[in-house]
Amino acid sequence: MQGLIIRSTGSWYQVQLPDGRRVEARIKGKFRIKGLSTTNPVAVGDVVDIEFEPGSDNAVINNLHPRRNYIIRKSINLSKQAQIIAANLDQAFLVVTLASPRTSLGFIDRFLVTAEAYSIPAALVFNKLDLFSKEGLEILAEYQDIYRKIGYPCYEVSALKGTNIDQITELITGKTTLFSGHSGVGKSSLINALLPDLDIRTGEVSDWSDKGMHTTTFAEMHQLPGGGFIVDTPGIRELGVIDIEQAELSHFFPEMRDRLNQCRFNNCRHVNEPGCAVLEAVEEGEIDISRYESYLSIYHGNDTRA
Ligand code: GDP
Ligand code: ZN
Repeated sequence: MQGLIIRSTGSWYQVQLPDGRRVEARIKGKFRIKGLSTTNPVAVGDVVDIEFEPGSDNAVINNLHPRRNYIIRKSINLSKQAQIIAANLDQAFLVVTLASPRTSLGFIDRFLVTAEAYSIPAALVFNKLDLFSKEGLEILAEYQDIYRKIGYPCYEVSALKGTNIDQITELITGKTTLFSGHSGVGKSSLINALLPDLDIRTGEVSDWSDKGMHTTTFAEMHQLPGGGFIVDTPGIRELGVIDIEQAELSHFFPEMRDRLNQCRFNNCRHVNEPGCAVLEAVEEGEIDISRYESYLSIYHGNDTRA
């Protein structure tokens, strides 16, 4: 029987069956993913085959269907293993805010590079709109301009007041959308506004499974009334990309990508080379300086700006 993984705790998975029934399942057998060493073989968004254990309500997952895409994060331990967070995403929305706690442009750019590397369409949702004065709104518009110009849709919402929530609902209905964002930006409030019947406690990262074990929820999919899912990853603030080659990085900046064949040298790093089309575009203000700084920061591996 085929099912969709909608919740993952690392050892147990909640699987939604075609008739809407939800069952707890565990993994049986080995699942290997070519070229990737992972701590968990399947994740939310995965389509799997399950079978019921004789005489039990428990199911086992015995087959994984091919994925369209997946996102990972690097393990905190040193084993170089990755953790798959979610699979088969249609789009990724980063919830940000310029009000406290302000999201840095470096953080936004790292997220966007990651989404590019995974080929997942990304958008920015600027939350806490209600906190902005007239001047604040102008600055907000300037920030959105930076990203709209390079093709990333930007939306302004207030999760608290319910402003523009309808617009987000329209964008996510019928799709599987990852919501990401660092702590305090209002991601939980936004998800609650989008799904009034759900009650995500803010800051919640763990719960008690019905097996009586204390478990951490890696990721969860919430079904939307009009179809589609919101993918929430409590406690995961940042996505990780395994092995972006330095030479590849500029391909994940759309505004650089378009200019790469205009650089004098084929192997231009866009750092200090003569005849670099990227540097020229930065000087002429065609590439935003903050984006270029993010490029350098990621390029040199000191992308630790929060
Ligand atoms: P999360 O950590 O991203 O899930 O953020 P929460 O949803 O827990 O929200 C963090 C804080 O920001 C809470 O005190 C919320 O009430 C507040 N907050 C969330 N959205 C808004 C908003 O649109 N406007 C204002 N003023 N505060 C908000
Ligand atoms: Zn160059």
